[in-house]
Amino acid sequence: MEWRHDRRVRLCRKAFPRSSVPVQAVTRRDPSAPAFSADCRLCPRLSAHLADIRESHPGYHARPVPPFGDPRPGLLVVGLAPGMHGANRTGRPFTGDHAGILLYETLHRFGFGSQAEALSPDDGLVLKSCRITNAVKCLPPANKPLPAEIRTCNAYLRAELHDLAPPAVLALGTVAHQAVLRALDCRIAEFPFAHGAIHDPRPGLRLFDSYHCSRYNTQTRRLTPEMFRDIFAGIRRYLDGRG
Ligand code: SF4
Repeated sequence: MEWRHDRRVRLCRKAFPRSSVPVQAVTRRDPSAPAFSADCRLCPRLSAHLADIRESHPGYHARPVPPFGDPRPGLLVVGLAPGMHGANRTGRPFTGDHAGILLYETLHRFGFGSQAEALSPDDGLVLKSCRITNAVKCLPPANKPLPAEIRTCNAYLRAELHDLAPPAVLALGTVAHQAVLRALDCRIAEFPFAHGAIHDPRPGLRLFDSYHCSRYNTQTRRLTPEMFRDIFAGIRRYLDGRG
């Protein structure tokens, strides 16, 4: 491990061998694995939970929530999991709940979104060079996926990262941060999560960390709009600097 650029940027020596290595050689990818399956039932607890919700809330999406946004993104935003009355209801990440308010307002402010609000999948919102996904695609009870569920769903995130090869990834919270590292085959202990931390886990991919923009974090001001904008300002500088 060594530091690069400034003290906040961590570089994985394991992922940076002496010579330049093609990105696809660093991350193992099962070529038969899809990046998303709307019919996935690999996690029995989550599938049963969603089946219950489809009965109690017939109008809700209550299925795995697909990623949303640009198919060739400069920035991939990785959240934790769908929220009960947000993505789990509308079928689009961070759409229709409190966590999406700050996220989409900030994406719009930094030129990643066509509008500042995300209310429903037919609201006309277009993401520009940005895509949003979740570490876990199904709503977990109490918003807490089990470690086994995070590991199972990691196959989709691995496929996304491999197929999209985004130059910047924003991890919202520790679970998303660790899921990204797992999907990249990096040792999690080498890249500790911290709000504002920046890591280079593999060539051509910079990982930015932020506290999750959840209702709890924003209402307790653990994460303020200014703090969140600082993260995005750094991402924008990085992406613009790459040309
Ligand atoms: S959380 Fe992921 S792996 Fe588990 S059932 Fe949902 S889509 Fe499948």
